[in-house]
Amino acid sequence: MFDVRSIPLKLYNTATRQKEVLKPLQDGHVTLYTCGPTVYNYAHIGNFRTYVFEDLLRRTIQFFGLGVTQVMNLTDVDDKTIRGAIAKGVSLNEYTQTYKDAFFADLKTLNIQPAEVYPAATDYIDEMIKVTQGLLDKEVAYRGGDGSVYYAIRKFPHYGCLSHLNMDELQAGASERVSSDEYEKDNVADFVLWKAYDPERDGQIFWDSPFGRGRPGWHMECSAMAMKLLGETLDIHVGGIDNMFPHHENEIAQSEAYSGKPFAKIWMHADHLVVDGKKMSKSLGNFYPLNDLISRGFTGAQIRYMLLQTHYKTQLNFTFMGLEAVKESLQRLNNFCQRLLEVETVHPGGVIAPILNQALISFAEALADDLNISVALAAVFDLVHEVNVLCDAKKISSDEAQQVINLFNRFNSVLGFLSVDKQTSEIPQELHDALEKRNQARKDKNWALADNLRDYIVNSGYTIEDTARGARLIKK
Ligand SMILES: [Zn+2]
Repeated sequence: MFDVRSIPLKLYNTATRQKEVLKPLQDGHVTLYTCGPTVYNYAHIGNFRTYVFEDLLRRTIQFFGLGVTQVMNLTDVDDKTIRGAIAKGVSLNEYTQTYKDAFFADLKTLNIQPAEVYPAATDYIDEMIKVTQGLLDKEVAYRGGDGSVYYAIRKFPHYGCLSHLNMDELQAGASERVSSDEYEKDNVADFVLWKAYDPERDGQIFWDSPFGRGRPGWHMECSAMAMKLLGETLDIHVGGIDNMFPHHENEIAQSEAYSGKPFAKIWMHADHLVVDGKKMSKSLGNFYPLNDLISRGFTGAQIRYMLLQTHYKTQLNFTFMGLEAVKESLQRLNNFCQRLLEVETVHPGGVIAPILNQALISFAEALADDLNISVALAAVFDLVHEVNVLCDAKKISSDEAQQVINLFNRFNSVLGFLSVDKQTSEIPQELHDALEKRNQARKDKNWALADNLRDYIVNSGYTIEDTARGARLIKK
């Protein structure tokens, strides 16, 4: 079969605004840093759009035969987590643990592969102090009037290189977001590296440092942990588009001024998710934590498919109608896998090899083109169509059906939402038994019993499809 490693994987780099071939610093192994959640609340489907895209990226890297070490940080100290813990009267740890646990459960629901490391910011405070001290030593940072340490962006000539904003735009952007501590800084766009302790605001939550009590700034958390765990230059740094400015811009400024090396070779950003064309917000009543969709009866696989099927650089418009459509497409794909498992008769066949080869090439080429998921999915559906025609004409042997299943398993190593060969085993034994009894009842012309058994199966969430080879169960 075709060797996908011969296709170069190209990714769109936000920094250079072009697609670039991924060439890891270390041969055959990619370092990947992904900005993680602030654990003060449950993550919503907008957040998961980014995490599912990052999972697609990770799985695609592996599909092309490369290894990957991924780090995803957990921001467990910032204004929101501190405020939440104090309001609840619990320790910071106790407060954030609930949301950390929920986050990991959600990742599992969406079949997101675990990252190699999930560093919590509070476990790396020493590292953040070290980097902050280094920036003070280089006089890129200064102490503000309030005792906090700030980064002087005018000392970093490349500031704005990622978001392609000029200094005026950067300052305008910064002044909108500001804060009462504006007058403590030399320049309105300077940002905090170490936030001085305020007993009224922070309660008992603080760390000691050479520059006084306080806590790290959010941007510093990512820089310090990324450099510590993956080295001073990363192959790929990823996040949602919201994070590009100022968060990623600030990460670059801190890390590069500290190390003197480029921070990340490729930057990638996932676009927003909107609901019915509108920004998701609690006040509009269109705000969906993952669990909300699960409790409405949708599965993790369906939601994952929905989040994946739009290219990551395009805005994703979430609608319940769209999710229902995805449900049907997924069912179609899973029914197809089930059909393959049931191919029994040995037919001469001999036509499948070129079809599979072409499907693999089309799928791989699409992914290699900056994760072009819609073209990759089209290759999957084309294959389904062609194989269905062969099945109808009885031109496929069970061996060949198995080859199709193997290819589907390879596709699913990237897609992660198919139930390729689990269909049969997932159906409870009592339903198999009921189906058998129903078949017997029909043979015996005991229609009442056959109807009862059918009702039992239907009420258990399955339908019975009568095929040429007998009846089979399909999950509704
Ligand atoms: Zn970050």
